[in-house]
Amino acid sequence: MSEKISEKLNKIAELQSIDTGINAIEKSKGNLPYLVDELKKEINEIKSDIETLENNGIDLDENLRESKNTIEKSKILLERYKSQRNLVTNNKEYEAIIKEIDFRESVVIEEEERARVLAEDLAENKNQLESRKKILESRSAMLSEKQDELEQKLNDTQEDEKKLIEKRKLLVAKIDKHLYNLYLRVYNSKGRLAVVPADEGFCGGCYTVLPSQKLSELRRRDSVVQCDACSRILYYKEEVVH
Ligand SMILES: [Zn+2]
Repeated sequence: MSEKISEKLNKIAELQSIDTGINAIEKSKGNLPYLVDELKKEINEIKSDIETLENNGIDLDENLRESKNTIEKSKILLERYKSQRNLVTNNKEYEAIIKEIDFRESVVIEEEERARVLAEDLAENKNQLESRKKILESRSAMLSEKQDELEQKLNDTQEDEKKLIEKRKLLVAKIDKHLYNLYLRVYNSKGRLAVVPADEGFCGGCYTVLPSQKLSELRRRDSVVQCDACSRILYYKEEVVH
């Protein structure tokens, strides 16, 4: 019985050591994976902004061209009416032409105002587009730099991490389920540290001095002993070595 507990504890201590190793590798990547993700998201947003601005620019351009066209045509008509005005022989015709001239003149004024606003919008749109493109360029450069860094880190650690993950898988299959669940609970709630040494008379996790009753429990090696203060699984290395 006691040997079985020792074996269980050996395995769970080994699991902790593997998980600590995997954590160290993850930590060595720093915030690079996060940065790469965030940059990708930002770049997608910028690209979508650019697309919107480009479409907007096409519309504005089209509207401005139409507006200029209308002005051009109205001016030609005005010229024509003005020469006709000089040739009319009766009042009725004269009035009709004056009416037409007034109407065309107001069209030109309205359309010129519209063209002015459109040209302003188009210029503003162009500015925004250029600025978004510049930001896209700088973010893309940053992304490729961070991706290279991350890739380098992955190349350096991938093999080790793979081995540890494989080793972990094999080990977990051999670990008592109840103990494994306890391990996960403590591991996830206690800063990824679930199994701690107790050889020196205190808990290796929270450094609480262990009462003598706890120490004798540990020495008996017939149960899983947890720290009363932090719930971590206590591991008595000296006693476990055969
Ligand atoms: Zn503790």
